[in-house]
Parts: sequence; C-alpha cells; structure tokens
Amino acid sequence: SSPRDDRAGAAAPRPRIVLLPSASMGHLAPFSRLAAALSSGHACDVSLVTVLPTVSSAESGQLDALFAAFPAVRRLDFQLPPLDAPELSGADPFYVHYEATRRSARLLAPLLAAADASVLVADISLASVLIPVASELRLPCYVFFTASATMFSFYAYYPTYLDAAGAGDADVPGVYRIPKSSFPQALHDRNNLFTQQFVANGRSLSKADGLLINTFDALEPEAVTALRQGSVVPGCPPVFTVGPLSPVSFPARASADYSACLDAQPERSVVYVSFGSRKALARDQLSELADGLEASGCRFLWVVKGAVVDKDDGAELSELLGEGFLQRVSGRALVTKAWVEQGEVLKHPAIGMFVSHCGWDSLTEAFATGVPVLAWPRFADQRVNAGIVARCGAGVWVERWSWEGDEGVVKGEEIAEKVKSVMANEMLRRSSTMVREAAMTAVAGGGTSYRSLAELVARCCDGS
Ligand code: UDP
Ligand code: UDP
Repeated sequence: SSPRDDRAGAAAPRPRIVLLPSASMGHLAPFSRLAAALSSGHACDVSLVTVLPTVSSAESGQLDALFAAFPAVRRLDFQLPPLDAPELSGADPFYVHYEATRRSARLLAPLLAAADASVLVADISLASVLIPVASELRLPCYVFFTASATMFSFYAYYPTYLDAAGAGDADVPGVYRIPKSSFPQALHDRNNLFTQQFVANGRSLSKADGLLINTFDALEPEAVTALRQGSVVPGCPPVFTVGPLSPVSFPARASADYSACLDAQPERSVVYVSFGSRKALARDQLSELADGLEASGCRFLWVVKGAVVDKDDGAELSELLGEGFLQRVSGRALVTKAWVEQGEVLKHPAIGMFVSHCGWDSLTEAFATGVPVLAWPRFADQRVNAGIVARCGAGVWVERWSWEGDEGVVKGEEIAEKVKSVMANEMLRRSSTMVREAAMTAVAGGGTSYRSLAELVARCCDGS
C-alpha cells in the first residue's frame, strides 16, 4: 500500500528528512536550527549528514554540541575522499570543501538510500549535483538557501543575466536593481571556481521540489513575491520562507568571561563587533578598527579573527592589535579570539549595537533581537544583505566603505564617528525594534514563517 493509504486510521506518518549542509558555520548554523525546528518543533524524524573532515574547529564543535543536545537527530557521517585538484591550491578552503563534496556527490547515494528518507534538504552550494542523485533515488529534493531571499532572486536570475550577455547592474525582474558593485567579488571572474558553482546551481534550481529560505515575508516582500509569482525565473518551485530560525544555544560552548562581563554593563551600552566565522580583516584595517573603537569612547565586545580558518589563527591579540591597546581599553572592553555564542550575546540587554559584516545568519540574529546594525559588508552576498538592512530600518550602511579587494582602508576616526552616531540614534533603535516585532510575528503561531514551515512538513509527509 502507498504511504497515503497507511495514513487512514493510524496516526499520520512522521516525515523522515535528511539534511545535507555544506562547509562553514554560515551554512551549518542555519541547518542546525532547521534540524532543531523540524525535530523538536514539528516531530519529524531528522538525520543530518556530516561531511568529514570539517574545515574549521568551529564546525566540529558545533556538530558535537548539536548531536549531544538533540539525540533524536541522527548523525550520518560521510568521509570525503581526498581531492586531487592542484589547480585549487590557494583557493578559499571552504569553497574547496564545497567542490570536494560536489565531486563526491554520487558517493553520497548509498548513504542517502540507506537513510530511508522521504525528503532530502540539500545546501544551495550542492544543488546542481545533488538534485540528479536524489532524482535517481526517487527522493524529493528541497534546496535550502542559507542567505537572503533578495540574494536568492539574484542567484536564480544570474544565469539569465549571463545568457543575455549582461554586463552592468542586474535588474532582477520584480525585485530591484542590484548594482554591479554589490555582486559577490568572485562573479567578476567567469572562470572562478565559485562563479562556476554559482551558475551551475542557479541553473538547476527549477528542478528542485521546493526552496527554503531563512527569511520572512515582511522583511523582503519584493523578492519573496517575485519568486513566488515566477517573475524572477519561470517555473520557480514553491518557496518556503521559514525564518528567522531560532539560534540553538549551546551554553557549554560559551566562554564564561564575556557573559559575566556583559551582566555587569548598563543596558544597551555595549557595541558588539564581529565579522563572522570565515574571514579575517587585513592587518591595516584591523588596526584602524581598533583605533576607531577606542576613540568612540564606547564599551565594546569585539570578536577578532586573525585567519580564515580558526585552526591557523595562532596570532596573539597583542600582535594583531598593537602593544598597549588591550591595556588602554581594559575596563570598558572585552576583546577575544574565542568562539562566542552570538545568538545569546545579541539577546543580552547590555548590547546596544552590532558592527557586522552582514553574513546572513548574523543579520537574522540581529533582526530577531532588534539590535541596530552598523553594516560593513566584506565579501560575497554581504552588500546585498547590507542593502536589506538599510531598507528595512534595522541599521545603517555606509556604502562607500571598502570591502575585500577594494583599495584603501576605512580610517579609525570615521569608524568612531559612525559608531557614536548609531549608538545615539533613537529613531534607528525604534525602527530596529519594529523589525524584531515583525520577525516575532512571522515565527509565532499563525505567522507567515510558522505556516510556511508547517506546510513544508505537510508536503514531506505526502512525499511530494
Ligand atoms: N558565530 C558565533 N560566534 C562567533 C562567530 C560566529 O556564534 O564567534 C555564528 C554567528 O552567530 C552566525 C554564524 O556563526 O550564526 C556565522 O554566519 P554568518 O552567515 O553571519 O557569517 P559567515 O561566518 O558565514 O561569514
Ligand atoms: N558568493 C559568491 N562568490 C564568492 C563568495 C560567495 O558568489 O566568492 C555567493 C554565494 O553564492 C552565496 C553568497 O555569496 O549566494 C553567500 O556566500 P557563501 O555561501 O559563501 O556564504 P557564507 O559561507 O559566507 O555564509
């Protein structure tokens, strides 16, 4: 009998969902949140494929914490065969990991078959290679886009833009113009590894059974509507806007010193500074930022990264920031190279603003907590995301500030002025609170994201 027949009489079957994230915390964090939401919130039977070895220690720590906290989530280890690709030496290690996984996609078939799943949810960076594998297994394949809906509309539209020999800004139909200066840097080079993955994945999307995006309708109405109406690309599969997914917090991973320190600060007095989990600022920019934070006179919590991959990040803070800096700011600043539980930090009443590189996960955390953002995008989709921040009132973006590959550094004085002005901006505080309220409404019972996730689960039950 078909699963549909079995459902008559007995309790509805639990959907069996396999999640397949790709490398970096920016992808693993939202997949972990989705795993928690589906397993605990929606009573699904969830497995998560871990593609090993991970690139960073942050990822292996996250995986251990996730499976310890959610024993119902099944762990499916997949050992990545070594990649023999000398042409990729020197490329970003996270993209090399995507590529290695892509080239091994067929080897994932037995693991997926054995998982006896009703649905696969694959990371966007693996879409074009996993959709055919899933199809051969007759396994419906949903794609999880871990960035914004606006970026997704650009991603989906980009092959059309290329085919039309597009050279300037991108007018994504039904959305708005994405200036060329906001394109991910890698796209300016047709032969870049990432561009090739980007275009191949973009072309494959219409073959997916559905698309999940960690956003909510009211945040990006243009992109969400245009995607659903088929204006961006004809034949766009159903779009499920399921965000902002709640951070899963792992208190054991947090370092005690900053929690105690935040507890002792007045409300909204601390500037939180982080540029995400996978890029380091250039040394000269790092020292201007240090000058700026010092000159702002504000309290701050700064998570410093000195290297792309945490395991290689051996430099001492004093070496990165200059002798004397830590002494001069002691008493009003906490500077750390350790992992912080950012979802928890942003919830803390002492935090008054967030200087952010605009990784989408970081932004969803800021939207959910109403902390105003000073957007300072560095690479990839981050300028598109910074545009969303400015549009929705969650923060400000100084568009002329440089990003990776641009000439020139942003001077400390300018950073100090901007930090002070955002901290004093009452209107911005109100508008970011409104963004938080809209986010809460979306995920609460009956809200757009709540319904979207429930509809996704219902479809997974149908096996459609
Ligand atoms: N993160 C964290 N602690 C850190 C650094 C990063 O919890 O010390 C989390 C952050 O909250 C976010 C993720 O790591 O959930 C980073 O993803 P994002 O998309 O913001 O940026 P990426 O690191 O991919 O550039
Ligand atoms: N991206 C890109 N080229 C790059 C880096 C990123 O086109 O060199 C795009 C990528 O396709 C995605 C977005 O930028 O749409 C976010 O990048 P990524 O997946 O690396 O996100 P992160 O790991 O920073 O969260």
